[in-house]
Amino acid sequence: MKQMMSRVLAAAVMLGVAAPAWAQLGMLGKVAKTAKTIADLNISEQDEYEIGAMVSEKIRQRYGVVQDKSVHRYVTLVGATLATRSSRPNIKWQFIVLDTDGVNAFAAPGGFVHITRGALALLDDEAELAGVLGHEIIHITEQHTIKAIKKSKMTDLGIEAGAAQAPGGGLGQAAMEKIAGKAAEMVMAGFGRNEELESDNKGLAIANEAGYQPLGLSGFLMRLQERNKASEEKQGLFASHPEMKERLDKLASRAKGLSPAGTATLAERYSKFIAYEPKPITEVAQVEAGAAGLAGGGKTGDKSATAGTKEEEKPKKRGFGLGNLLKPGGEEKKSAQVTGSGGSRGVDTERNAKGGSNPALVAVNITAADIAAFKKEGQLK
Ligand SMILES: [Zn+2]
Repeated sequence: MKQMMSRVLAAAVMLGVAAPAWAQLGMLGKVAKTAKTIADLNISEQDEYEIGAMVSEKIRQRYGVVQDKSVHRYVTLVGATLATRSSRPNIKWQFIVLDTDGVNAFAAPGGFVHITRGALALLDDEAELAGVLGHEIIHITEQHTIKAIKKSKMTDLGIEAGAAQAPGGGLGQAAMEKIAGKAAEMVMAGFGRNEELESDNKGLAIANEAGYQPLGLSGFLMRLQERNKASEEKQGLFASHPEMKERLDKLASRAKGLSPAGTATLAERYSKFIAYEPKPITEVAQVEAGAAGLAGGGKTGDKSATAGTKEEEKPKKRGFGLGNLLKPGGEEKKSAQVTGSGGSRGVDTERNAKGGSNPALVAVNITAADIAAFKKEGQLK
């Protein structure tokens, strides 16, 4: 754990800000003895960061990281442009490009935003990238994962009340690891309808305030839907997408209500840094059955690090991350059953995509001056 933390810290993207709020630890305090739900626990900002670091490690183990500095630098500059406008500009934001043809994005607590190479390939311009990153950033600023976890009972996660809180006031190590395991499952399983709509709404706003045309996310979602169409129709799972239509309608009306709206698309700059070609969904290499989940334990030396347990593999919730954008909410149960009995591939093609073998973070150092220059070049705000 210690080792991993220092690695993460070494690669952290510093956005040129002063000591983060989580440096002021020690507030709150004795809660532990009577705590029955996670909500009773004091999860500090530092705890949240460490939980996110563990979740990110699992995601990176599963999909690998594109070892390309220039791609990471570009994605980080776009992400930082948005994150510095968010409600939590001072947390340690990191933008990580995963090495898989599957189209996806994942937000882990504490500032870890992941986007896949496959997603970058499918995007047309920088405004679309901003739309996707903005959406993921809001999952983090609104603490969607942490809030969901706080609804769990400690016994559900196997946390002993006495050991839940560390003497200093933060989480105990064992409790933190249990929570990180649950958080990883949640991040993979995807958020509910309300969280997705909130991320759409507020993510669109920060992208637009930064100067991007406001319908970047919509453009991308429509292309993603088109991409998934063939396999969906074949399986009869998603013959209609009322939720998707609702989302696109909401995004459109939100965009109309904005003033002053940004108009930047920056397709040329995007293609200067991102040259990936999208793979048709039928050609996305898949992992073997049983290996699609995230690593169960936090130990990197574990032989089963890339193999999910049966428990994790079970599609409790339909879709996840960006895939979840296509099918959030009420469809979940039904789809999961169909998937389970049909055993067909396709619905989870993006999620079950093979990944690269190198989970190492790519260090990018970006200063406030770099962000300012990047904005100026793109005529962003
Ligand atoms: Zn989302």
